[in-house]
Amino acid sequence: MNDIAREIPAEDAFADIEQRFWSMHKASRTQPPPGEAERRQSLRALRRAISATSAEIIDAVSRDYGWRSPAETLMAEIVPSLIIVRDALANLSAWMRPEPRSSGVLFWPARNKIIRQPKGLVLIIAPWNYPVHLVIGPLAAALAAGNRVIVKPSEFTPATSAMLKRCLEGALGANRVTVATGGAEMAQGLCQLPFDHILYTGSTAVGKKVMQAAAANLTPVTLELGGKSPAIVHESFDLPLAALRIMRGKLLNAGQTCIAPDYVLAPRKQIEAFTELARKTAGGLYPRLLDNPDYTAIINQRHYDRLAGLAADARSRGARLIVADPAGELAPGEVGAPAQRKMAPVILSGLSDDMAVMREEIFGPLLPIVPYDSLDEALAYVNARPRPLALYYFDEDRRRISHVLERTVSGGVTVNDTLYHFAQEKLPFGGIGPSGMGAYHGRDGFSTFSHAKATFVQARHTMTSHLAPPYNRLFDWLMRFAVRRNGGRAIRR
Ligand code: NAD
Repeated sequence: MNDIAREIPAEDAFADIEQRFWSMHKASRTQPPPGEAERRQSLRALRRAISATSAEIIDAVSRDYGWRSPAETLMAEIVPSLIIVRDALANLSAWMRPEPRSSGVLFWPARNKIIRQPKGLVLIIAPWNYPVHLVIGPLAAALAAGNRVIVKPSEFTPATSAMLKRCLEGALGANRVTVATGGAEMAQGLCQLPFDHILYTGSTAVGKKVMQAAAANLTPVTLELGGKSPAIVHESFDLPLAALRIMRGKLLNAGQTCIAPDYVLAPRKQIEAFTELARKTAGGLYPRLLDNPDYTAIINQRHYDRLAGLAADARSRGARLIVADPAGELAPGEVGAPAQRKMAPVILSGLSDDMAVMREEIFGPLLPIVPYDSLDEALAYVNARPRPLALYYFDEDRRRISHVLERTVSGGVTVNDTLYHFAQEKLPFGGIGPSGMGAYHGRDGFSTFSHAKATFVQARHTMTSHLAPPYNRLFDWLMRFAVRRNGGRAIRR
């Protein structure tokens, strides 16, 4: 038995989790919702749990990946998890405060307010690619909003999932947060339970199944899905800088990032130059591949084979592949080292739509470069395809930037760099259409997991007492007033 098998407990049985669900569900209906102090306590406990286990987190994620760069786990899992919790703690009072809204003149002097209440018991389903942050991010928002939570982490990161179970249930109590380890069957079973909200992060194909299952209970869903996110480079932009920023975004986690630039649209006359810059830049970022601690492996054999298959399919259909292997570590003709599941950065050109790499989300270090002749042609290319999760545009001209922002629809955008819109707690993060629905992060996450309860508080003496029979002259006057005030023309009854 190897180390991983020894340390990882058996997956949870669905019957146990279902029992836990009903106990948490009952608690969410019978116990008062947590006030601000209790929510702060939960968030602080979450923060302590992350800090106390950061070394374990780095180790567990790396074991799950075969190798995950410790720097990346620190930068893209632990630090953003701490940031999201800190932001929730800093803003909780403001988020929880009832929001006054004015009432119409006819209802004067009644008052309106929106009270944000916990939805109750929510389900968070997470993928493997950022197995900690994509659990902690939504979890912090759900706890800030006062919910009880069942988390279903990915079965492809068993060491991390087991660690999360131990650490989250230990820190928060299993009646506040339960972690359900297990595979697709566990996730499917959970989706059939009457949760008050489901936040799912993962593939578009599974997202549809989640929504279908949730529909049976009319459970609202937030779907954080994937897709092919384009990076468009304008000819006037500093090409080496664009190559650097695109390759950094592409190669983080060896391309296994939902918002990684999937492909590049570059001016036709700059294709050669960009391809060469991309290769050189990749070599500068990762001078060695196999034993480079900064370069992450592909999560499992299935995904390695899938990526190698995408490269082979493109090659067999006439694409040119440039493999960034600066230290010459790979066997001739190979795009990676299957034994270590390390895949080289591969830049592809000469592409056509029949190639799988141009149809499927890549989710790995392969970067197709597509030429365009005019900016509008590049935008038409993007708009002819499913709406992406992210879009990147490199240009300094404000008029053209506005044009691109106006003429494309994507979940989010970073201008003149990649990925960073995700890291902004003040911006909502989410997709549109096939790349997702709904959003979270910061206040938007709090809102996602809260019910915005419309509350009308009537006054003792009120104008509305005249809006009832017997309809008299004051009523007529009020109606004439209301019609005129709202732009209508005098009406007689
Ligand atoms: P996946 O869809 O295979 O799995 C994600 C989760 O779904 C796992 O926990 C899994 O157990 C669960 N699951 C599997 N079958 C299910 C079912 N029938 N019903 C409910 N849940 C089920 O996705 P993945 O391969 O783990 O993740 C990769 C995808 O996720 C990519 O498309 C990527 O773009 C996307 N992604 C999106 C974001 C985002 O924030 N938008 C972030 C990371 C990854």
